[in-house]
Amino acid sequence: MDLGGKNIDNTALTVHVTLMTSQLRFRLYYIYLHGTKGTEMSKVSVHWFRHGLRFHDNPALLEAIKDAERFYAVFIFDGESAGTKISGYNRAQFLYESLCDLDSELKAVGSQLFIFNGVPAEIFTTLHKEAGVTHLSFEQDCEAIWNQRDDDVRRTCLELGMEVIEKISHTLWDPFDIIDANGGQPPLTYEMFVQVAQVLEDPPRALPNPEWDNVIFGEITDELAAKLKLAPKVPTPEMQGWIRNGEAPTYVGGERQALQHLKSRLRVEEDAFRDGYILPNQVNPDFLGPPLSMSAALRFGCLSVRKFYWDVHETYYKVNRGQPSATHSLTAQLIWREFFYCMSANNPKYDQMKQNPICIQIPWNKNPDHLKAWEMGQTGYPFIDACMRQMRKEGWIHHVGRTAVASFLTRGDLWISWEEGLKVFYKYLIDADWSVAAGNWMWLSSSAFERQLDCSVCVCPVAYGRRLEPTGEYIRRYVPELASLPHDYIFEPWKAPSKVQEKFGCIVGKDYPKRIVRHKTASKANYKMMKNIRDSLKLAPKHCAPSNADEIRQYLRLPKACFHNIVEGRH
Ligand SMILES: Cc1cc2nc3c(=O)[nH]c(=O)nc-3n(C[C@H](O)[C@H](O)[C@H](O)COP(=O)(O)OP(=O)(O)OC[C@H]3O[C@@H](n4cnc5c(N)ncnc54)[C@H](O)[C@@H]3O)c2cc1C
Repeated sequence: MDLGGKNIDNTALTVHVTLMTSQLRFRLYYIYLHGTKGTEMSKVSVHWFRHGLRFHDNPALLEAIKDAERFYAVFIFDGESAGTKISGYNRAQFLYESLCDLDSELKAVGSQLFIFNGVPAEIFTTLHKEAGVTHLSFEQDCEAIWNQRDDDVRRTCLELGMEVIEKISHTLWDPFDIIDANGGQPPLTYEMFVQVAQVLEDPPRALPNPEWDNVIFGEITDELAAKLKLAPKVPTPEMQGWIRNGEAPTYVGGERQALQHLKSRLRVEEDAFRDGYILPNQVNPDFLGPPLSMSAALRFGCLSVRKFYWDVHETYYKVNRGQPSATHSLTAQLIWREFFYCMSANNPKYDQMKQNPICIQIPWNKNPDHLKAWEMGQTGYPFIDACMRQMRKEGWIHHVGRTAVASFLTRGDLWISWEEGLKVFYKYLIDADWSVAAGNWMWLSSSAFERQLDCSVCVCPVAYGRRLEPTGEYIRRYVPELASLPHDYIFEPWKAPSKVQEKFGCIVGKDYPKRIVRHKTASKANYKMMKNIRDSLKLAPKHCAPSNADEIRQYLRLPKACFHNIVEGRH
């Protein structure tokens, strides 16, 4: 049995119990001797799909089917299956498509995906007692939000004498290896994370698909099906209680779709390498073209992060005639993902201000009207409204759109807590990750991770949008009431003379809302408040230490030349 890369004698039944305290997560290995040396326990295995909804590069699945007498593939709806307790229609739909794809892949090899409703530990107990299941495999979920669920399952398996197989494949590295390599603490800045990661070995290569030829698939009797509330087919979002309300997602879930999507994404990467630059999705954020992001596929694990990582690197080698890229910068976005996962791995309060040891306590305002206006895309700032409306409709917005709306809600304009914004993101985004979303919100609101932005520079909702999508077509697409306005006013409709507003059928305050705040005034006041908070902190928090202007520029995806014009906020 392999636990996080550590091989343990397979005559012993080893259960990896991960305990957690609010500060620190300890890893304990319990070795529970089972039988005498040399005797093999017959293996009836279940692979529990949670994230990692795929066949390719799935080490836990490969281990589950190896030498199994019988094998079951299982998914459980336990109330949090779409990733977080809060989820809107689009993410539920993406999950549904991903499960349908997996089910049809399993049907093609002679089985099916068994979908149950209920508490995982109870379901595995029943499967052990009534179907003779001896082994349970799953992919590591490193976010602290899953600790309780997985600790319960591990404890139950230990009590029942079942073997647990847990493998790392949702991340490039085991976050706990990074923490160990950093002396027991997560590296508190991105820069430090990169340094620690460089000390570790390269991430493992993606593993091949399972060989299904010799696998014997288990069946579920009618009696057991009734007991475990086996779903007769993959339940649609509507069957689970979601109601479609104008949503029109552009991303489709499923492994096969993700692999197709990866091919087109790699062509874009290849073109960029040939033209001499990297990170094309960042350098030229395309607001109007076909969707390019891999985030939803990675979030549900329809695509292996290790496959994405290595395919991009291989493409680079191919274009550059075998020259390896020196650093991780080729896939820097993936390092941000690792960083936020790692930061949250031993911090169950990562998604809130209170009791969150890395978060600065900022006295944010409560303003339900402003919060609602922001959520509904009714702030009176066209670029902000376009982003929020795209997110509600399609379940996705580009990273730069996220930075604009997050800055606007928090330290930029409205001075509303990042926790409120986070809940809205959890609801609407198809790629919403408990830790990745919270980490980005803390970063953007100057609550953790960085120092330089700390409100002396904040994203201007007008200039940033104009810089990123100068044609205004993006706004016309998502804010149709502004569609006929001349280009001169599309980013600032309040500047259009009333005659122009009348002529083009868009009266500000009637057809489109007035600005809920004046950016210039609000951002100045917020700057003062943030400065006072900073001055009142006797010691600068460690995690706000060494970030630099380059890191901020890269995070905001802005070229050097225009950086200062955008962040100074002239409006
Ligand atoms: C306030 C805020 C909240 C966010 N919430 C999420 C979230 O819940 N889930 C999520 O996957 N991404 C989140 N992001 C990060 C990023 O905006 C999305 O991953 C986005 O889809 C990346 O698009 P891309 O086309 O540039 O990614 P790609 O080029 O396709 O990047 C590949 C992968 O890198 C990762 N990645 C890219 N940027 C970041 C980042 N800043 N932080 C962490 N990982 C990153 C994502 O997993 C992404 O799939 C958030 C960003 C902000 C500013």
